[in-house]
Amino acid sequence: MNNSHDDSMIIIGAGFAGLAAGIYAGMNGYRTQIFEMHDKPGGLCTSWKRKGYTIDGCIHWLVGSSSKSGMHDFWEEVGIAQGRKIIDMEEYMHVEDASGRTLVFYCNVDRLEKGLLDFSPQDEKPIREFTNGIRMCLPFDQPSKHDSFPNRLYKQMKLGSMFIRNGSQMQKWMKITCEDFSARFKDPLLREALREMWVPEFSMFFMLFTFAYLHNKNAGYPLGGSMPMSEALEKRYKDLGGSINYGKSVGKILVEGNRAVGVRLSDGTEYRSSRVISAADGYTTIFRMLDNRYGDEKTREPYEKWPLFYPIIYAGIGVNRTFDDVPLSVSGFSFHLKNPVEIGDAVRKRLWVHIYNHDPSLSPPGKTVLTVMLETNYDYWKKLHEDKEAYRRKKEETGRLIIDQLEQRFPGITAQVEMIDIATPMTFDRYTGNWKGSFEGWLITPENSSVIMKPMIQTLPGLQQFYMCGQWVEPGGGLPTAIMSGRRLIKSICKEDGIKFKTIS
Ligand SMILES: Cc1cc2nc3c(=O)[nH]c(=O)nc-3n(C[C@H](O)[C@H](O)[C@H](O)COP(=O)(O)OP(=O)(O)OC[C@H]3O[C@@H](n4cnc5c(N)ncnc54)[C@H](O)[C@@H]3O)c2cc1C
Repeated sequence: MNNSHDDSMIIIGAGFAGLAAGIYAGMNGYRTQIFEMHDKPGGLCTSWKRKGYTIDGCIHWLVGSSSKSGMHDFWEEVGIAQGRKIIDMEEYMHVEDASGRTLVFYCNVDRLEKGLLDFSPQDEKPIREFTNGIRMCLPFDQPSKHDSFPNRLYKQMKLGSMFIRNGSQMQKWMKITCEDFSARFKDPLLREALREMWVPEFSMFFMLFTFAYLHNKNAGYPLGGSMPMSEALEKRYKDLGGSINYGKSVGKILVEGNRAVGVRLSDGTEYRSSRVISAADGYTTIFRMLDNRYGDEKTREPYEKWPLFYPIIYAGIGVNRTFDDVPLSVSGFSFHLKNPVEIGDAVRKRLWVHIYNHDPSLSPPGKTVLTVMLETNYDYWKKLHEDKEAYRRKKEETGRLIIDQLEQRFPGITAQVEMIDIATPMTFDRYTGNWKGSFEGWLITPENSSVIMKPMIQTLPGLQQFYMCGQWVEPGGGLPTAIMSGRRLIKSICKEDGIKFKTIS
């Protein structure tokens, strides 16, 4: 323990960012305690059990999963890589239209290109633009500490030259949304898939990067899913001397003379420390815990202008059957409905289903978990939630309607359903506190894409000894970003204290 600096910190939230901040703080001699309102670690990276099935609430792909990748070093540092079995699937997504035509998005870029060209030769120009965009991103990886010196140097040079050679191309892709790019395709299914596979407003750049990671087998699926990763983080944090107080919701951040000095929990008890880090929801932190007394126009701009990842209805379904004939895929399977149907607050024309035939550990033998994710409106569910009975009925109806639609594509499935669980934006709100139930924070759009070059600040103007990390200061969200956010923060705190930042593997 380094006692030469003022070393106590309170961290709000035991999601990936809060735990990572605690881990890196522990490595650098700081004493931390985390206050977490839920009774489990991981925040959004979670799963829950129902009738013998495990519904995974998060991980589809883990960037940095390849041990050859520089990003894998972070997973090693925080104790997630160790002993984790990763599988790399061949397909990213399977999309069908009303006539049963199937469009497959392969992870391998050459296979993807060939598949798309065979599917829609008339779209050769935008298809090649898309796949060449992915190829441009293939060399993107930071050197790993396991690389030999010449290899590290080579990777660094490759990375540098990629930015120099492709700077204007990268800018171009950042400025195009998925929706705008999809409009260049003539084939209606290809157009629809590219528009909706991600979020229409999202900058295309990130889709290219994701496909590049998939091609490089660096965005695999960790068997066992989300919760074991969160538990591994919690263990690493505790092993480094950290302590977590579960079931403790922070109501206010205590401030004296414009310095954060501790927290007051919702039950009124107070805890003091020399620094406070909020790894919890950004809106709650700035506007409720600190009563909007700190920050400036720049701090408030995202909350007034930036679009959020849509809140979702998240259905977990346990079925007494296998799906041996359905290829394993990273992001699932989408099919067109015979007739549009209103589910929740909106009319749906297709269903996006994730079939966990790649992870038998989530269901009893011979059975499978499916999840269905539908974008929805937060205010709709918030209003409905005021009448608990109406809310319960709507959830029940939502489940029933989803099964009815699945029956169209998988005849007989209705009789095989053993469990159905519906999470709404109110569920995300209750368990993680994320603003408007958003599941990944800010979207990166052409308007705010400059954050890629210049990250958001992790402090609030006017308030000392206070810091933020996590998806509300890292647009685009995601698990690697959450870890890097905690790491980035502790590195800068070490700098403040004149300590050389170190990591312990
Ligand atoms: C369906 C879904 C799929 C996803 N798929 C992927 C994927 O494939 N790959 C990927 O990388 N990412 C994925 N993500 C995104 C990823 O889960 C998040 O971006 C990431 O977990 C955010 O971490 P965080 O620590 O910043 O925030 P959070 O996980 O939200 O953690 C914040 C923590 O703060 C706690 N908290 C809030 N308020 C208080 C309070 N007042 N007092 C005490 N504690 C409080 C919360 O309970 C929570 O534990 C997915 C998310 C979802 C929901």
